[in-house]
Amino acid sequence: MQLRKDPITQSWVIQADAGDGLEKSEVCPLCPGHEALTPQTIYEYPYGSPNWQVRVIPHLRPIYQIEGDALRRAKGIYDTMRNLGAHEIVVEHPDHHLPLSRQPDEHVAQVIRAYVSRVADLKKDRRFRYVTVFRNQGEPAGQDFEHPHTQITATPFIPRRVGYELRSSQRYYQLKERCLICDILKQELVEQERTVEWDDLFVAFCPFASRIPYETWVLPANHLDAFEEDLASWERQLRFARFLKSVLGRLEAVAPAYHLVLHTAPNVNARFERSGNWQTLADDYHWHFEILPVIPSKSKSYGLKEVYYNSLTPEDAARELRRLVPAGSKP
Ligand SMILES: [Zn+2]
Ligand SMILES: [Zn+2]
Ligand SMILES: [Zn+2]
Repeated sequence: MQLRKDPITQSWVIQADAGDGLEKSEVCPLCPGHEALTPQTIYEYPYGSPNWQVRVIPHLRPIYQIEGDALRRAKGIYDTMRNLGAHEIVVEHPDHHLPLSRQPDEHVAQVIRAYVSRVADLKKDRRFRYVTVFRNQGEPAGQDFEHPHTQITATPFIPRRVGYELRSSQRYYQLKERCLICDILKQELVEQERTVEWDDLFVAFCPFASRIPYETWVLPANHLDAFEEDLASWERQLRFARFLKSVLGRLEAVAPAYHLVLHTAPNVNARFERSGNWQTLADDYHWHFEILPVIPSKSKSYGLKEVYYNSLTPEDAARELRRLVPAGSKP
């Protein structure tokens, strides 16, 4: 596998070789008792217990390789890089059939704690410019395993969409000396047309220019740029776990398959980061989770996703999601 940079859009593309990818196996490698089928444990809770509740391991078929350097090269106008990075799996629960949204609050908080711990740890590695957490839930979303799990990647580049957000937030800050996402939140909370759920700490809403039906963002009500710093305490982890569960419960009632992705501050200590790139980052960027449902019958891709065509307005989506009782909650 190799990383290639598109000289026009500046985005990095993972170029897989034939034969890369995961074969589906009969036994679930993520189930308790099958630890021998997986690489060595990176993190587990409780630590050292054969009855682990949450476990982090290297991905069985990693897209990125942890050893060595990026070896950035150019051949004429074309840039390539080794597929340097980290690719991990968070096994969210020992139970093969218990999705995150139905796990107990304290358990989900332990999953969040595992995310926080891994993101903080990977950011110490100065070879990596960006660390993220994502879930592909359901077959249509391209899940790697049936077993409830999340993936974590660390990369020597900043993904393109996050790059857009960072530059846009920085420009807005230069003009107004305010955080763009804080201003969006303020307006959403006043208008109450696209908000799905909110409390004193967190907000979920369908963005004004939603790309797909039921696109939902989940984010802290108060400003912070880095996920792992904001959710460092058990108290915040537990409150966020409850909030996320509730939002996922609503969404799963209409869209059982979805992508969930963390957008957070890049690694400011990365080796190749130009100093001065992120001077106002702490004030201008606001971390968030984006949930992008996969609804094949309702979304039609237009022009290969160059222009999004969304068949459902975010106002209607939010109204429906507000009314829905989260699937995991007791009546
Ligand atoms: Zn399993
Ligand atoms: Zn903000
Ligand atoms: Zn985002």
